[in-house]
Order: sequence, then structure tokens, then C-alpha cells
Amino acid sequence: MTDLSTAATPTDNPTVLTVSGPAEYPGLDEWRNLPISQQPTWADPDVYAASIKELGSVPPLVFAGEVDVLRERLAQAAQGKAFLLQGGDCAETFEAATADRISARVKTILQMAVVLTYGASLPVIKMGRMAGQFAKPRSSNDETRDGVTLPAYRGDIVNGYEFTPESRRHDASRMLRAYHTSASTLNLIRAFTQGGFADLRAVHTWNRGFTANPAHARYETLAKDIDRAIKFMASCGADFDALKTVEFFASHEALLLDYERALTRIDSRTGLPYDTSGHFLWIGERTRGLDQAHVDFLSRVRNPIGVKLGPTTSAEDALALIDKLDPNREPGRLTFITRMGAKNIREKLPDLVEKVTSSGARVLWVTDPMHGNTVTSPNGYKTRNFDDVMDEVRGFFEVHRDQGTFPGGLHVEMTGDDVAECLGGADPIDQEAFLTGYESVCDPRLNHKQSLEMAFLVAGALAHSR
Ligand code: PEP
Ligand code: MN
Repeated sequence: MTDLSTAATPTDNPTVLTVSGPAEYPGLDEWRNLPISQQPTWADPDVYAASIKELGSVPPLVFAGEVDVLRERLAQAAQGKAFLLQGGDCAETFEAATADRISARVKTILQMAVVLTYGASLPVIKMGRMAGQFAKPRSSNDETRDGVTLPAYRGDIVNGYEFTPESRRHDASRMLRAYHTSASTLNLIRAFTQGGFADLRAVHTWNRGFTANPAHARYETLAKDIDRAIKFMASCGADFDALKTVEFFASHEALLLDYERALTRIDSRTGLPYDTSGHFLWIGERTRGLDQAHVDFLSRVRNPIGVKLGPTTSAEDALALIDKLDPNREPGRLTFITRMGAKNIREKLPDLVEKVTSSGARVLWVTDPMHGNTVTSPNGYKTRNFDDVMDEVRGFFEVHRDQGTFPGGLHVEMTGDDVAECLGGADPIDQEAFLTGYESVCDPRLNHKQSLEMAFLVAGALAHSR
């Protein structure tokens, strides 16, 4: 395994308190014996014990049957018969879990999916980095401002963003708030996508409330085409009941293993463990060590699993991860989310794809064009250039075309709001806009316009790749 800069060290391997959730299944607690990185050091053991106990008895956020459906959908994508669109905040916050913001994000993902479906004539699997994306890996344990050093912000599930000692304490009761915020977010998503709002016949209304700009105008034209096609089919007698609802899946990085373990339940149908905190869980670039806790824990749950693969990943690492996470070579089980950086992708990805493919394994390949392209703007903001992001997407499509493999998905940090966090786009954002429009507490997101623009560009590349 390649040496990762933030791999587990004795100092960031705090004593993990051992209180398990009620789901008993052989091996589910094996991770507690392994090196682990990026975990909190909870301030109060009693609050920790009470929180874990409660999480062990609350209802699941997602159902095993839904998780199984997703695995089948992802298997389709791995075979080139569907495309995965996964998007949302870098870090969700409790404060921003409002109806307006959640619905803007869902609408934007639905709009992007329509653009992709229509442009590439392919079913699109819609998935939010939503309803659970509350834990963040950090490159440093501490943060220093004006000579004051405090613990780094690790996501709302661990501590607060506000730079005070009280807020930065690792407070285990936040796991309960994360659970309840996930539940209300998911409730709204389910209402939107099952309650008629996402009916494809309302494709125009998703654009309402967003200001006029080039990507919106293009979307309006596409929505008119879809309307016309639907009206034509309706006059021919077609039945459109299937358009009324949309499948939408929830995903997050399974970083905080206390939380993931406590929400793991044994499915009464199959007798197997499912992590019911979300449908799809991924392992981050900093925690994908083969013999470490995260890979071990996720190897033991039935959910479809993703792994982020950065530019230092060797083909041997990838093959070992397949053996550990998908020993039975189960279609849809394993997704590799590559995040190489625009500068590296054309050089690094071919060897991985070639060796994985010639091993006979079939994974779903997804591009995350965000995390390998983070830079600091001259005025000091963490940002990304839209052009670099798009260049990585193009590189991803080129490599898969050359290898004869399917570029099966797009993973982006985006929002439905009009923020200014990434530079560029057709209606360009410049660094001055950050002063008033930068809201992210972690990585910079594509705003609504940039997200739509990206969907059009990816739809074009996808249509050509088939
Ligand atoms: C993320 O997805 O926000 C993230 C931290 O990604 P990575 O693990 O790829 O760095
Ligand atoms: Mn991020």
C-alpha cells in the first residue's frame, strides 16, 4: 500500500471506546483492533456511551431493500447501461439543513440528471452527498488563528465550525443531532421525489427561482424539447405513471466509525448486516489503508461501497482493495471514485484501469474531478478552477475510451444556491466574489449555474463515448 501522508499514526489513533450498537454479527467490531485515523477524541465518555446506546435503538434511515435496489442499479452502470450522478456539499451542516437549501440541491441534481439522461439517452442513477455527509477528514488535528490553536473542525457530527474552545470540543451528542438532521433531510428528499414534485412533466418548474444565465437558457430549451416529446407520446396513448416518481439515493463518506457501527442493523430477510445510515458509503482517500479500520468495517456490510483513489494509488492497491471489499466479484458492490487531478489523470489512470480490467474484476468507475484540483486563490480562499475540473472530466472520458471501459459516473461537490466558491464557468466567478458569496465550511462547491454547465459538458462527452 502506498504511504499516505495522513495514514494512521499512534497519535491520531486515540483510544476507541468500546460500546457497540445492538447489531451482533461476527467481525463487525474487528475494526476496533486495527489502526484507525481521522477519529475524534470524545470529550465526555458518559455522553459518548449514552449517544451510542441511543443510536443503537433508533429506526434505520434507509432500508435494506432500497440498498439492494441501488446495488442492482450500480451493476447496470458498471456494465455501461446507466450513469451515476452523485453530488452535494463537501460538508453538510446542521444549520443549512433547511427546506429551501435542501430542495435547491435536489432540484439541481434532478436538472443535471435530466440533462445527462436526455443528452446521452441513458438512465441516470441520482444520488446525493446528502442526509449524512457530516464527518470530515482533516490534514491537521489543529487549526491556529492569530496565535490561538484549537482542534480542527471535523464536521458538524464531531464539533462546531465556530472558532472557540467550547465549539471545537468533540461532543458525542452531535452524533444524535446528525442522525435527526439526516432523518429530516431524507424525509424531505423522499417527499420531493415521491410526492409528484419530481414528475418529469414538471421539468420546467425546477428551473424557476434560479436567475437567468446561459446554462438556464440552455436548460429551458431542453425542457421544451422534453415537454414536446412527452406531449407527443401522450397523444399516442402512452402511460406516464412511471414518470411521477424518481429514485434518489443518499450517500456519505463513512468516516466516523462509531456512528456507522451504531447504525448497523441485521436485515431480518437475509440475516446480514447493513449500515443503515445511508444507501451508499464511501471510504475516503485518507482512510483507504488496506489493513486499517475503515476498509475492514465496510468490507463487512452489505451496502454498495465506494473508494476514493488519488494519484498515489498503485494498481496493486486497487487489486487488493477489490479482493478485500468485493471478494465475490458481486456486480454493483464496488465503485472506484478516481480523484487524480487534471494534471495526473491521463498519466495515472490508464495503468489502474488496465490492470483492474485484465484481472477480470468489474468495478464501476466514477470521476471526482474536484478533490485533485483544489488550490488557494491569491486572496486566500480554498477554491477550484472550473476549467481544471472540466479538464479532469475530459481526461477521465479519454482514458476510458482508450481502454475500452465505461466512464460510469460523476461525483461532484455542488449546491443549488448562488454561491461563489469555484472560479470560472460561462458566467464567470472571480475571486472578488468570494468576499460575499463564499459559504462552504469545507471544500468549494460548484454553484447552481456551474453545476448545470458541467452537466451539459458531461452529457456531450458521454454521448460521444457510446
Ligand atoms: C470529500 O469527498 O470531501 C473528500 C474528503 O474526498 P477525498 O477523500 O477524495 O479527499
Ligand atoms: Mn470535499
